Amino acid sequence: MRRIALFLTMMACMSASAPSVDFRAGRYNNVCKDLRDDVLLYFVFVDTRTTSPWTEFDILTTIDSIHVAAKWLEAQAEARGIPLNIKTDYYIGNEFATIRRNLPEKSIGETIEKQGLVRGMESFSRWGDYISKIIGESVYIKEKDGIPEQRQPNNKERLIAYLRDEFQVESVALLFMVNNYYRSDISLAINTLHNEDVEFAMVSYKFPSEIAHGFLHLFGAADLSESPFRRSRRKVRLAESAFPDDLMTEVYARPLPELEIGEFTAYMIGWTQGLSPDYETLLTERFTLLK
Ligand SMILES: [Zn+2]
Repeated sequence: MRRIALFLTMMACMSASAPSVDFRAGRYNNVCKDLRDDVLLYFVFVDTRTTSPWTEFDILTTIDSIHVAAKWLEAQAEARGIPLNIKTDYYIGNEFATIRRNLPEKSIGETIEKQGLVRGMESFSRWGDYISKIIGESVYIKEKDGIPEQRQPNNKERLIAYLRDEFQVESVALLFMVNNYYRSDISLAINTLHNEDVEFAMVSYKFPSEIAHGFLHLFGAADLSESPFRRSRRKVRLAESAFPDDLMTEVYARPLPELEIGEFTAYMIGWTQGLSPDYETLLTERFTLLK
């Protein structure tokens, strides 16, 4: 009996020393803190060498999808008595011109595979800064006595500061949309678990559920299916059997009306303050974000 106790203590020490990530680090952290009251969902259409070009039709249907996603999220909040108003806006050039910037590797998934999670996310951060600078050059800066009140935004952080001011919101969810309609890739949220750089999401598909999933990552939600962040098979099995219809599972093209925000996700996004001990194991995964 004592031996077993000793063995269990040893196991606990070992797992404590193994590098692990606690998804609670994403709660109330970085740009998107509290999913309530007024928030802005700002999205950008990005073309790359390897993704399908954004046609006018694709862009218009994506804008529709974003409105569907925002309405669904607001309804979920209302059902829990949480006030939520999602403002939406997007960047588009003249005649549906998009921003062109190739992905670091051929796809989002390949970037993470080849460069690893930490370096891959740094590459995406620079990619996002470049795109933000292009947007920043086009935004209108107010003048006072003939002098611009601020400089044109030249990276993600400055763009978000500009949008915060412009829309009078605290939280700005920045979504970069890439058109992967005809091939398979992953969507990914970047910089959500630390404060070293500004968080944003890359969304691969224009389905409302995929957009809402990426948006919730920025407010602290963690994956409930296998992903670069959710790795333990045991935890994936638990998550998918406890929350088969949660928005944070692998939703891809599933229609929003058959999905929900379950107990775990509601806790992660700050809609509830307590979590059943049954699901505590889902708060962590064993990998590292340290360089
Ligand atoms: Zn995800």
